[in-house]
Amino acid sequence: MGGVPDLEVTGGGGGAVRAAAAAAAGAAADVAAAVRGASGVLPTAYVRSDITPSGVGTGDGAAKGVGDGAASVAVNGATSAATSVAAGGARVALDAAPEIATRDSRLAAVWAKIRAGRRLDLADGLACLESHDLLALGRMADAVNRARNGDRVMFVVNRQLNPTNLCILDCKFCDFAARKGDAHAYEMSMDEMLARITPDLREVHIVGGLHPTWRFDDYLAIMNAIKAKSPAIQIKAWTAVEVDWFARIARTSIESVLERLVEAGLDTLPGGGAEVFSDRVQEILFKPKIGADRWLEVHQIAHRMGIRSNATLLYGHVETYEERVVHMMRLRDLQDETGGFLAFIPLAFQPGNTGIVERQASSIEDLRTVATSRLVLDNFPHVKSYWVMLGEGTAQVALHFGASDLDGTIGEERIAHYALAGSALGHAKEEIVRMIREAGKVPVERDARYNEVGVEIA
Ligand code: SF4
Repeated sequence: MGGVPDLEVTGGGGGAVRAAAAAAAGAAADVAAAVRGASGVLPTAYVRSDITPSGVGTGDGAAKGVGDGAASVAVNGATSAATSVAAGGARVALDAAPEIATRDSRLAAVWAKIRAGRRLDLADGLACLESHDLLALGRMADAVNRARNGDRVMFVVNRQLNPTNLCILDCKFCDFAARKGDAHAYEMSMDEMLARITPDLREVHIVGGLHPTWRFDDYLAIMNAIKAKSPAIQIKAWTAVEVDWFARIARTSIESVLERLVEAGLDTLPGGGAEVFSDRVQEILFKPKIGADRWLEVHQIAHRMGIRSNATLLYGHVETYEERVVHMMRLRDLQDETGGFLAFIPLAFQPGNTGIVERQASSIEDLRTVATSRLVLDNFPHVKSYWVMLGEGTAQVALHFGASDLDGTIGEERIAHYALAGSALGHAKEEIVRMIREAGKVPVERDARYNEVGVEIA
């Protein structure tokens, strides 16, 4: 295996990528400044509660019994649902939903529908994304999020591990993948991977390319070695695209692949590879990759086997608003059926050197998408504000637009940074806590399954 080209980090894990485009980060900083000015007295003490991460099928957020479906949970007040993160696919009723004034009559109708406990449809989702009353939309999403999560914002001490960028596919939007011989191609040795597994980590998030010669056993060996070095670490690994690939190279079923992954220490599946559930977009951007039906099938099977997962949407390229909302509604349908999704993660497309679009979606577009997803995905426990792609400033603001999770410390993100993401490669835990506090929220440390492991107290 070859060496690993370094992405440059400065300042103790809170640094910047030298070649990064800074435009989006600049815009985000302006918005963040507005939040800093608006935030009130912030909590001061950080207390660990030492909850042991649970095994498969145990604990609050555990996988067995993920079929809570769309059961309704009544909430009396803005913060009383703060500990209901394990509700799986449960919807939360807004008994005390505030009145929110807006000059946008379509948006007003959306809010009336939510207050009446009715589910949003395609036209409602479009009304949200097309509205110019961003602040009213944000207040609506914030009210819905507060009914579920209060002021609490979750994060995890984690590390991204991308073992290789060699990939047999060539998705047009991907600056990460490489072919053998490319200047930026890399394969980590086992020692290089294990050197990244440090005792402080609660979760390791592993995804990478579809390597041309690695066998399924090679991927299992990575997990076994990590567990041997750090038995308590939780492994969130392999997108549905990779799980499908493992089934192909091992000539077996998705069920068999998932069983072997769990045996090797898998805790949860990440949400990547979903892109946009649209045949049209797939034809343009990722034709050879699995499409919506297979992605959903992999997650459906995982949920039935008691494995919980996340879901993503890659937006800000050639997709339409309608395709974004349809994507959310298909995820919502599966969540009704299985209750197995933990979080929805809107991923802002990083244009990098792809030439697909000139620039990343604006902060306004980011906030619209986060807020709309919080309103449409009424059965998802969390919407994540993924600071790596949003930029730290916009990610903080998104905590007031329906997001209740900031992901984690990350350590060394490669996929977005090969596409010139302007955020840091990783952040110290203290910086993640500071970002949440600065937004006026309460940091809650979690594990990969959203079990709480530490709570900020005033
Ligand atoms: S998006 Fe994934 S599957 Fe597509 S080329 Fe990149 S690494 Fe390969």
